[in-house]
Amino acid sequence: MNEEDRKALAEDVAGIVGEAHVLVDPPVLDNYSRDMTVEPPCLPDLVAMPGSVDEVQQVVKLANARKVPIVPFATGTNLGGLTIPRKGGMIIDLKRMNRILEVNEDSMYIVLEPGVSFGDVERHLKRNHPGLKISQPAAPAFTSVVANYLLGGLGTLAMKAGCHGDMINGLEAVLPTGEKILTGSASASPHWFSRHPLPDFCGLFVDWKGTSGIVTKASIQLWPKQPFEDYYAVGIWDIDHVPAVLGRIVKAEITEEQSGRTREVVEVGFGMYKPGEQQLPWDLLVMHRLAGASKKLFDAKVELLQEILEDETKQGRRAEILWDFSANEVARRVSEFPTTGFVLSWMDLGKEGVKKPGGGSTWVGGYGTLEQFPGGIKKAREIMERHKFVPMGSQRTMGLGRYSIMRFLIPYNRKDAEEVQEVREMMKELARMELDQGALMYKAPEWATEMMMEKVDPGYLDLLKRIKELLDPNDIMNPGKLGI
Ligand SMILES: Cc1cc2nc3c(=O)[nH]c(=O)nc-3n(C[C@H](O)[C@H](O)[C@H](O)COP(=O)(O)OP(=O)(O)OC[C@H]3O[C@@H](n4cnc5c(N)ncnc54)[C@H](O)[C@@H]3O)c2cc1C
Repeated sequence: MNEEDRKALAEDVAGIVGEAHVLVDPPVLDNYSRDMTVEPPCLPDLVAMPGSVDEVQQVVKLANARKVPIVPFATGTNLGGLTIPRKGGMIIDLKRMNRILEVNEDSMYIVLEPGVSFGDVERHLKRNHPGLKISQPAAPAFTSVVANYLLGGLGTLAMKAGCHGDMINGLEAVLPTGEKILTGSASASPHWFSRHPLPDFCGLFVDWKGTSGIVTKASIQLWPKQPFEDYYAVGIWDIDHVPAVLGRIVKAEITEEQSGRTREVVEVGFGMYKPGEQQLPWDLLVMHRLAGASKKLFDAKVELLQEILEDETKQGRRAEILWDFSANEVARRVSEFPTTGFVLSWMDLGKEGVKKPGGGSTWVGGYGTLEQFPGGIKKAREIMERHKFVPMGSQRTMGLGRYSIMRFLIPYNRKDAEEVQEVREMMKELARMELDQGALMYKAPEWATEMMMEKVDPGYLDLLKRIKELLDPNDIMNPGKLGI
């Protein structure tokens, strides 16, 4: 965009959202031009921060009339380059729209705006609705609930209901041409209890990565918070036994959460990792969270977990409880091992698991079947060790074991151009490997989405293109992210 057009646009947008909420300073724009991944940066022309759905509508109409690309933005922490404005244009930063509008305790849903973070919801529920909880990712608490759920994210209750995209009851959205719509039960009822029974348009925004419109309100499912809860870390000795052992545990419906880390993640955490050498006796460490409405029920679940593991071991699939943490104990140990605290500490590691500056982090991750997991981990170990990176694999069981994620955590030094290029090549190999196994990449960067679109059913691809064109005739919404 030339300087004159940019100035004119900034003025007109300021007329809608207020001058204080239009950002044009180069250092500020630079912040929005990149994220912590290896995806190439690109500068936006300006950033607009609307404060209401009405302002979003006006800004979108203006952009559409001038064919200016727009990118919806929450906190830019998606780890896939998904808010990098590939064609410049305007970033629509939704952080000012941060109201929690309703909590329905009986139907267990919360209605909120896109600027509301997981930390906001956690605090609100603790204070006002202590019997309820939300499924949360291991992402920083400042990230957006709506953005994560729209991305089909994965969290603490994915085991129960699948990815977060399946936990959306309905939403309000502004289409790329500026019209506002409601989806789900709220489109014909005052209550946001479900995305059924009318034809389901929530799907026009879930997994679209901000390419079909801007969501300005969403109803998110909440879950009962049980009084008795505990974590159990289960070690599985042989990676080939993972599907059988984890599958049996989830089908017993005794655990609310099942999320694993390969031994390398733990070895790095304890500073004992050596490339190509196994230091720990088991191959996968899987955190299980068990919960119960009564002590009796909770104890029965723990007992059944132990019985299953003893029987699996008897049948030659060695698996044991290595640590059991009381809920409070978890809070203390998280900073040491393995999950969020560890995730944050692995982010300042570089090649060969050695702490290095540079703060780059990215990952390759796909949704696939639990059955594929052992083969995928073995191939990933070969690929990552060849590129001299620690094969830090993680798993999370989704939808009662119907599917699972397989993802590889890649900290790197983003100041080292050679290392950045190495990461790009390695990620392509990992993505290809996952796709060849039948897994599909979630919140994938552009190049990985293009890889997936090469495999997609032609009828599906044709319909996707027709719907995108219908919704966004000027192709202004986050161009390039849909991979078509
Ligand atoms: C250490 C770490 C751990 C993480 N762990 C997890 C994890 O366990 N599970 C998980 O799911 N994620 C995880 N993440 C990824 C990420 O933080 C979340 O997915 C996050 O919720 C999305 O990021 P965001 O809120 O910053 O959204 P953004 O990155 O700002 O946006 C994400 C995408 O949604 C689009 N978008 C944003 N808002 C809207 C809107 N209102 N309407 C339409 N489109 C919109 C954007 O254009 C973009 O395509 C992790 C990230 C980090 C850094």
